[in-house]
This record gives sequence, structure tokens and C-alpha cells, in this order.
Amino acid sequence: MKAKYLTLLAENKLGERVEQLEAMLSSCTVCPKLCGNDRLNDEIAACYSGRLPIVSSYTAHFGEEPCLSGTNGAGNIFFGNCNLRCVYCQNYQISQTWKTQKKNEVTHERLAEMMLELQERGCHNIGFVSPTHFAPQMARAILIAAENGLTLPIVYNTNAYDSVNVLKLLDGIVDIYLPDLKYADSDAGFQYSKIRDYTLHARAAIKEMHRQMGDSLQFGNDGLLRGGLLIRLLVLPNDMAGIEENLRWIRDELGPKTAISLMAQYYATNKAATDDRYILLSRRISEGEWFDAVSLLEELGMEEGFMQEYESASHYYRPNFDDAEKPFKDIRDFQ
Ligand code: SF4
Repeated sequence: MKAKYLTLLAENKLGERVEQLEAMLSSCTVCPKLCGNDRLNDEIAACYSGRLPIVSSYTAHFGEEPCLSGTNGAGNIFFGNCNLRCVYCQNYQISQTWKTQKKNEVTHERLAEMMLELQERGCHNIGFVSPTHFAPQMARAILIAAENGLTLPIVYNTNAYDSVNVLKLLDGIVDIYLPDLKYADSDAGFQYSKIRDYTLHARAAIKEMHRQMGDSLQFGNDGLLRGGLLIRLLVLPNDMAGIEENLRWIRDELGPKTAISLMAQYYATNKAATDDRYILLSRRISEGEWFDAVSLLEELGMEEGFMQEYESASHYYRPNFDDAEKPFKDIRDFQ
């Protein structure tokens, strides 16, 4: 199964898409904040990001779901800055330090080189982490890398506060959508991520991703993920994420076969660890909270996906892994 962007490249349509995406930078509508600043002339606004991409780091990463990490790692590229301001962001040193991140600006050509380096190292995919505010730059770099031999699938690992118009232009460029669905209630989004109408925009974005990808995950013969939509639900303390409501929405709007990755890894960091206003997020989730979330998968009839182990919160389960010792399990094994 070849990466989707190779088809667009062969049809001479990839460049046109990139240009359409880049046009959105001139009065920025790249995300639902619709700031309207001229990023082509480095006029910065809410995400502090201008014309060039900012890359905080890139590496073979082994902490993703096993079907992404595989044996050689996911080829993750971590963009600097973000359009959200989550008070518990585990990457706040790169997402909320724009003055420092400015120093990490790279050219599109250099970003393409990073992708080719990760491919050379044997990574199984290129995983763009927090790509929303750099979607046009990402697409330009994919074009350059594809012209120079990139063949790996592209993973779009996003907070889901994405523009539907941008996602439509990414149709045929991205192979795997990996969105968070952070909150079921936009008030929580405003309080904890400083963003308006999170639920409205994230649901619209995920619906568009689902339209492009459908229900089923596509795996290669090696068991690695090659295509599809996998929605991450991070369980927060005191049910701040609204897991049940989110799962109900996914089941009812997208269908019970939609793949879920249920995550137990929350820990208090950034302002959640130090600021009393966020006291409800100042601890790890309890075992009871975790098992309540796991039980919901069965109760609501969700059929596909992965979950972390509560104890280590670093191992994922994946479906149909045909291993005698069964180190990973399908969510169906818990039902
Ligand atoms: S990508 Fe950045 S500048 Fe553009 S609308 Fe979103 S927050 Fe504003």
C-alpha cells in the first residue's frame, strides 16, 4: 500500500494543493482561530508562528501505539509552538516557549531532509506532532521530500483544533490521522486549553478525517499501520475530558468500529502542577477512574482500538496481534 501523496505527485496535483494551503497564510485561516495575520511576511498572532516551519526536534520515537512505533520507531517531527495553551501540556517546553522556538526555524528544504533522514534510519512513518499551525509548511516539505524519494506514510498527530478547509486540502496527502478528542465540553476547553469552541471545531475536524478515511484501519503485512483514523482519548482526573460523552459521540456519529486509543498516561505538569486554579488536574488519574473509562468501551459497544496499561501507562494494546505470548490485546479482550 503506497503512501497517498505519491499518487497526487504522480498526477501532478500535489504542488497545486501545496499552493492552495500556502495561500491561507497570507491572512491566516490555517486553524479555526482565523487570526487573519500575514504569516508570509512573518506577522505573528496567536500561535506565534510565521512563514517558516519550526522544528523543535525529530527522532525515531518508540512511545506511540505499537503499530506506529514498530521495531524501528515512528519518525516523529515535533513542531514548535501550538494554537492551544493546555495548562497540562506535557510538551509545554516546546509548545509554549515561542521566543525560544523562534531559534528553531528551518527551511522547507531542511524539513524535507529530516524526513528523508528518518526514512534512511528505518523509521516506519513520518509522524508530524502538533502540525495544525504548520500544515502548509508540512505539505510543502512533503512535496520536496516526495520528489527526492520519500515513500513513508504520513501521520498527522493533532490536537484536532483544525480547519475543515485545511483538512480537505490534506485529503490524499495524509495517510493516518491521529487526533486527540480532548473535551466533550467547550467550557473545559476554554478553561484548560484557552481555546473557544473546542468541541465544535474538533468534532467537525474529526468528522472530515473520518469522511476521508472511513472506519477501518489499514495494516501492512508487517502489522504496521498504513492508513486510517485513530482517535486518542486521554483520560483526565475528575472526568474533565468527558470520556463517556466523547465515546457516545464517536459511536453515534462515526460508528462503533471507529478506532479509539484510550490513554492512561496523564500526569500533572506545567500549570496543572503548580497553579491552584487547576487543582482538579493536579494529580494522576486513579485506578478507579481508569477502569470506569475502560468499562465504557464495553458498555457503549466500541469495537476497535488500543488502550494503555494503567500500571505502566506506556504499553499499548493493539488488535489482532498474532503473538503466542499476546503482549498486546485488542479492546475486545476486555469486553
Ligand atoms: S494557525 Fe496560528 S496564526 Fe493561523 S489562525 Fe491559527 S493560531 Fe492564528
